Amino acid sequence: MLGTLADLLLPTACAGCDATSVPLCSGVCSECVEVMVNLVPHETRPTPAPAGLPPCHALGAYADPLRSLVLAYKDRGRHGLARPLGNLLAAVVASASADGVPVLLIPIPDTPAAARERHGDHMARLARTTVRALRANNIDARWAYALKGLKKADSAHLSAVERAAAARNAFAPRGRRPAADRRVILVDDVLTTGATLAAAAGVLRHAGVAVAACATLAATRRKDPGRGCDV
Ligand SMILES: [Zn+2]
Repeated sequence: MLGTLADLLLPTACAGCDATSVPLCSGVCSECVEVMVNLVPHETRPTPAPAGLPPCHALGAYADPLRSLVLAYKDRGRHGLARPLGNLLAAVVASASADGVPVLLIPIPDTPAAARERHGDHMARLARTTVRALRANNIDARWAYALKGLKKADSAHLSAVERAAAARNAFAPRGRRPAADRRVILVDDVLTTGATLAAAAGVLRHAGVAVAACATLAATRRKDPGRGCDV
């Protein structure tokens, strides 16, 4: 227990590759930083894509070290990674909206239980650091906590169809409707089937908010069960 606490307070291993006894910058070693800065934001789309999924942009595949960084931030209490991950997500947002139109980021919210377990909504925190990074690059950005996560069952082992059904009941609009003079971009950590982002975009559409694009740090590659390999 004390060891875990010490690790949270003073991370000694790289959050991307677990290397120890190496200099860390924001909890990440220079080799992992090198890999991350060479990732190029790009448009991506799951196959099949659920109905109503806006155009999606991601930084890289859901593979290490990006995968480990996301998990360390999200599930292992490494909140200090919000800043470097916010810088990376800002690059994705900037590539998804490159024409200088002011943007409004709406994070996919944690369920209340997940937010309690993670000591705060991890995507809301990441939206804040992403906005800070965008503004540092002279991009007019704001974020709004416009969705609330509703209690739901763990979707990790559901099929794509079951996930889509669960996702439709996962969100509700929250707070006042955001101003319409900004390009709305949904932000999340990982794009998998697209069911979550499509469902969130649908809830916002019903509330009168049009989502222009989605930006995520990572996107999973589809497994083709017939071929048994990534495609
Ligand atoms: Zn590393």
